[in-house]
Amino acid sequence: MARKCIICTHKKKAEIDKDIIAGDSLLIIARRYNISKGAVQRHRGNHVPALLAKAIQDELTDLARGSDLLGQTRELLLQAQTITTEAQETGDLRTALTGIGRVKDLLELLMKVTGELTNENQTQINIFTGPAFVDMRTRLLIALEPYPEARQAAAQALQEVNL
Ligand SMILES: [Zn+2]
Repeated sequence: MARKCIICTHKKKAEIDKDIIAGDSLLIIARRYNISKGAVQRHRGNHVPALLAKAIQDELTDLARGSDLLGQTRELLLQAQTITTEAQETGDLRTALTGIGRVKDLLELLMKVTGELTNENQTQINIFTGPAFVDMRTRLLIALEPYPEARQAAAQALQEVNL
């Protein structure tokens, strides 16, 4: 039987998740909410990647509506990067591949959205050459080094949009 996660039923779960995603250390979070470090670690490894994947999905939906494109792009890329880092820490190849899949979906959607914007408004949007994006791409490929298959898939996805 699976061990019960005290954080998933914790009344401050939303705040704990936010701290985890912000990258606070396990020990600091454990002390802040008076819970064990092991519980934070298990929740981060087993439950947070799924949360992030859902958050990205939700944001992709918003993004498709064309609101605050650049801000949301940055946000999404950071989240995808966090998923990949989490997956690397927990050695979870499936999650790593999920992270890559999200990045690929995101890139494809962005191409579509920016293509539409460029055609309709004659506006040049340089998302793919911005420093945040270049930094994210580099970090993603480094994070994926232990997973050659995922890394290759990521590199291919990035190449498809001429990065
Ligand atoms: Zn949990």
